[in-house]
This record gives sequence, structure tokens and C-alpha cells, in this order.
Amino acid sequence: MKDLKLICTGCGKEYSVERVDPRCDDCNEPLEMELIKKGKIKEGNPLQHTILERYADFFPFKEIRRDLSLNEGFTPTVSIPRIAKRIGLKNLYFKNESQNPTWSFKDRGTVVAIQHAHSLGFKKVGAVSTGNMAVSVAAYGKRAGFETFIFVGKNIPQEKLNPIAIYGANLIKVDGDYGKLYYESLEIGRKQGIYFINSDVTYRVEGYKTAAFEMCEQLNFNIPDYVVVPTSAGGNVRGIYKGFKEFKEVGIIDRIPKIIVAQAAGCSPIFNAFEKGSMKIERVQNPETIAHGIENPFPPSGNAVLKMLKENGGTCVAVSDEEIIIAQKEMAEKGVFGQPESCVPLAAVKKLRQQGYLTEEDSIACIVTGSGLKYTAAFEKHNLNAHLCKLEELDSFIKDNF
Ligand SMILES: *Cc1c(COP(=O)(O)O)cnc(C)c1O
Ligand SMILES: [Zn+2]
Repeated sequence: MKDLKLICTGCGKEYSVERVDPRCDDCNEPLEMELIKKGKIKEGNPLQHTILERYADFFPFKEIRRDLSLNEGFTPTVSIPRIAKRIGLKNLYFKNESQNPTWSFKDRGTVVAIQHAHSLGFKKVGAVSTGNMAVSVAAYGKRAGFETFIFVGKNIPQEKLNPIAIYGANLIKVDGDYGKLYYESLEIGRKQGIYFINSDVTYRVEGYKTAAFEMCEQLNFNIPDYVVVPTSAGGNVRGIYKGFKEFKEVGIIDRIPKIIVAQAAGCSPIFNAFEKGSMKIERVQNPETIAHGIENPFPPSGNAVLKMLKENGGTCVAVSDEEIIIAQKEMAEKGVFGQPESCVPLAAVKKLRQQGYLTEEDSIACIVTGSGLKYTAAFEKHNLNAHLCKLEELDSFIKDNF
């Protein structure tokens, strides 16, 4: 591993780059790898690179094992000018993370943490999740030949478990307080040598930087004014922000976009604190939203995200389920079908434009974090119909009706 440090986002205490425990011994806030100050994008054909190879200067590894990769990343940045025009914005981009190996951005973080686990000689990995992260860790863990453990709550229906189980990892339903499982898993990991790649662990966050790196390249280094990230634990938004910071630090770009943290109103602990001007999140009681992937009532990176927003000068916004569903349909009708979480950014952009926070001069990138096909229950919220017509009448039916 290169000579780098981990730094506590809470108190600044320093740790070794080889540390697996993602939180500070003193203040329990998440640890983050120090900012990379020197580096460049690897030259050559990106089609022949993995993300870890192309951006190798921004990672701590001396050797990269290519076979741990499933060729994650390099997802499209799609522009939707018709929505931009209707809302009144200069540019509106969608970074379509559904085009990753397990259909969400989680794969970027998983591959980097798996590489870290391998570099340190671990043979076991795990995750606490029922959603995209579980699927991603199951796929990458098994592929790497690691003993792979996925902990889920006891009452998860089998149909939600199947997309995790198919990869063949050890799937364990835990009877007890799901909220405590995150911290408990880290404890078990320490005791039993299992590397838990949970939501905001240090190297998962490092992997999320690559979405920012790619957007810089894809937009020819014309950085958008704002990047909007649907936020739960806070790992993704921290990673994306750090990616822009590092590219600025090394001189690849000359400014950093403002970050918009977008939450669902039914579970918005970061928004609640931000509105109050508080630097500490409080647990949300009875969270409820259709965007289950961002339904964390007490996000482990919540305080770190508030600190980040203060440094960056961005903002935080919460949107209703109704607004999310409308955004989902609007995006789908332009060819980008995201799961409800992924449509929170567009709903947030519309709200901020109405409030006058965003203007027609602004160019904005929304992160479409995962695929619409991951949550087919959302179809019921839309009025989806097909026409019926006899074969002999098809000609006139089309003429008369459309
Ligand atoms: C995990 C996830 C998020 C939230 O990311 P965090 O890093 O937990 O903030 C958002 N959308 C989707 C689809 C996810 O799977
Ligand atoms: Zn600390």
C-alpha cells in the first residue's frame, strides 16, 4: 500500500491506510483517506481499463488485481435537454449508474473495498443490507473466491432475498434490532476476520470518487455547477465530492461543483439537521418512503455529510413520494428508468428551481443511482395501460386514435 493516511472526519485523528475499521476510536465518526495531491488520469484507451487502473494514482494500491473487477463504472452521462428546457436550466445531465454489473453505483465501492481486503490478505467479506449493496457484495465477494456473508433483517420477504441469494453468498437472517446490526457486524468482523464492506466504509467511499472522475472526462472537463445525489448513509455523496476535490487538487479541473444532498421527506435526518443549522443528525422515528434504498433513519455518515456541505456551500433538500413518482415517469419517458431513489435528484432540482435557488444559467448533473427494474412494485404507482384492438381494425385504430 502507498504511504497515505486515513483521517477522522470528526476530530482529525490519523490512522494507517491499512486500517479496516472504518470509524474513529475516539469520536466514532467515519475515517477518510487523505486527499490525493499528485496524480493524473492513466493514458490510453479507457475501454481497456478498469476504474482502478485508469485512476490508479488516486488509490492506495501498489498492485491491482484485475480479475476482482467486473468492469464496473464508465457509465453513461446522458443529457436530457427537453427536461432542462421545460424546467428552465442550461443543462441537465443524468449519470446512469444503473449500467453497472449489479445495476447500481454500489459496485464502484465494492470493487475497491474487495481490492483492499485482498491486499491485506483477508479471505472473508460481508455486508449488512437488503438492497443493492447486498447484491453487489454477494456478486463481487463470491467472484473473488471469498467466504461472503450477507446479514439481513429477519422479516425480509424471500422475493427480496432471491436477487442476493442467486450469487451464492452466505445469507443470514438476523432476529433482532436491525439498527444495531451495522455496529455489531463491525465487531464480529474484528473478532472473526471478516471485512465488512458496509454503506460508508472508507474504501467504499474511495470507490465512489470514480463517478466524479468519469463525469469530468465525459463532460470534457466542463464541470456542472451542481451535482445532485440521493443520500442515505452518505457514502456516495462523500465519495463523489472527494473525487471532484482531488481532481481540483491535482490540477485536472479548476473548480468544484456545489453538491446537493437529496433526501426523501419520509426519512430525511440530514435535511432536518441542515434546516436547523445543526451539525449533528438525530434519529428519524418511523421512516416511511417508497425510496427504500435511502430510508436510513440514522445515517452513519450523517454528521460527515453536514460538515461536507458546510465546506462546499451546497444545500440539502427533501422531496415527497409523490414528487419522486412524477420524476420517475418523466425520466422514463426520456429513456432513463431509475428506481425511486434515483429519481429523487430530479424532484429536488424541480423544487430548487421553483424556489429560485437554481437559475436558467445553471448546469446540473443528477446521479441515477440504480435501475428501475430493481423495484417493480413502483409500477403500481403509475397508471400504466395498453390499448387493445382487433387485428383487422389495426389500421383504422391507429388512424383514429393517435
Ligand atoms: C445505496 C443507495 C443510495 C444511497 O447511497 P448512500 O451511500 O447510502 O448515501 C441511493 N440510491 C440507491 C439506488 C442505492 O442503492
Ligand atoms: Zn475522531
